[in-house]
Formats: sequence, C-alpha cells, structure tokens
Amino acid sequence: MRRPYIVGNWKMHGTADALTTLADIAACADSVAKQVDVGIAPPATLLHRAVSSVGGSALALGGQDCHSEQHGAFTGDMSAEMLRDAGAEFVIIGHSERRSGHRETNADVRAKAAAAMAVGLGCILCIGEPLDVREAGEAEDYLAGQLAASLPNSFTPDMLTIAYEPIWAIGTGHRAGRDDIVAVHRLIRTVLTGAGGDGAAQRVLYGGSVNASNAADLFAADEIDGALVGGASLKAESFNAIIRAAAP
Ligand code: PEP
Repeated sequence: MRRPYIVGNWKMHGTADALTTLADIAACADSVAKQVDVGIAPPATLLHRAVSSVGGSALALGGQDCHSEQHGAFTGDMSAEMLRDAGAEFVIIGHSERRSGHRETNADVRAKAAAAMAVGLGCILCIGEPLDVREAGEAEDYLAGQLAASLPNSFTPDMLTIAYEPIWAIGTGHRAGRDDIVAVHRLIRTVLTGAGGDGAAQRVLYGGSVNASNAADLFAADEIDGALVGGASLKAESFNAIIRAAAP
C-alpha cells in the first residue's frame, strides 16, 4: 500500500508572518496523519523557525534544492547536510524552475538526489516535459530518458518520491488530464523497475495547477499517489482542502 503524499512548495514566498499558515496546515496534517503524509518546503530562511513552530506535528518540513556536495566553497548554496541540520526531512530536487532557471542537468539532479539521500533526507525528484514535446507526441520518450538519467544509483520507496510535473501545467491553471497523468505514472514505474527499483512500491505524485477544486478528481486514480502543489499551498484553506481530498 502506498500512502498518499501531499507536498507544498512555497518557492520564493513567505516571511515570518507565514508561520501562522504553517500552523494551520500542521493542524490539518495532524488530523489526517493516520492516512496521509504531508510536507511543506518553505524558503530556507524560514526553515529553522518553521521547525520551532510546528516541529513535533505530523507536518514534515523540507528544502527546495540542495548542492551535490556537503560543504565547500560554493557561495550562496546549501548542502543536504545543512538542510538536515536545520530540521528538514526531505528536499525537492530537479524542479523545472531549477532545471531551466539554473541550468541544472540530469547529471546535476542525479548527484543532488544522491547527496540528499546520503544524509537521510527524503528526495522528491521532479521530471516534466515542455509543451512542444507534448504537442509533438514525444512526451513519454522524453520523460523516460529524463528520469533514467536523473535517478541515483540506488533508491528505495521510503527515500525517493517522483513528482511528474509537466512544465506547461505549472502555475498556468491548466492541469494535465487524468488519463494522461496515469499513463505517465505507469511509465515512471516501469523506468524505476528497469533501474533496479520496485516501481509498484514507489510513490509518484502529480504537480501542475492542482487546487482545491480539481484535487479529488486526481486522487480518484490509484496511480496518482498525491500532489506537489505550488500556488495553492500558500494558503491553508486551499492546501488543507487538497490534503483532505487525499484522505481515503
Ligand atoms: C510547482 O511549481 O511545483 C507547482 C506544481 O506549481 P503550481 O501548483 O502553482 O502549478
């Protein structure tokens, strides 16, 4: 049985006043803790205060990126070990905004995922195709190649989660169709098994314009184990509705 998993990515949003939102989300996470895993990746500047504020609740806190080295002369970067030290339990790796805005390659993503898992951080590894690839009918080949090249050498279902996030669906209000998502999630499981993992046991999330109104439709599909949520995770009301929609 794969437990549903709902993760919010706050991106570059949130200062100290957002800690009250976090407390509201933590209360909801506590209320569904028997059925659903919930995480929020706040900006790194808030992580330590977030841990002080909601640590001990069922809400896991995470980072949005980490370096592939654990320390060194990398001005402005943050290591997985530092995130762990600040109280993070997981880290998002390979988000399309990192891949495009920071030119992260599949090899970078692979190294970062390995670094995160080496210090015991759960890793949410993102993949997703651009619109022209989807329109050309080449999405599945593209995604299979991207995932295979981004996977660390070894991984286990408790340490690695895959998030399928079509780039054209992120922040646009255009959520992908459920049947298309299911087809991609099946492909992801096949790639994971081909890489030596247990695809049937791995959690695979969908991300891209998930909101309180369309979440239940997504979670009705067994193949979809939860969601990585951007915009709708910034307000407790919308994010908590998504969390509740994932409770079986
Ligand atoms: C994201 O950036 O990971 C994301 C899914 O954003 P949104 O939910 O806003 O589309």
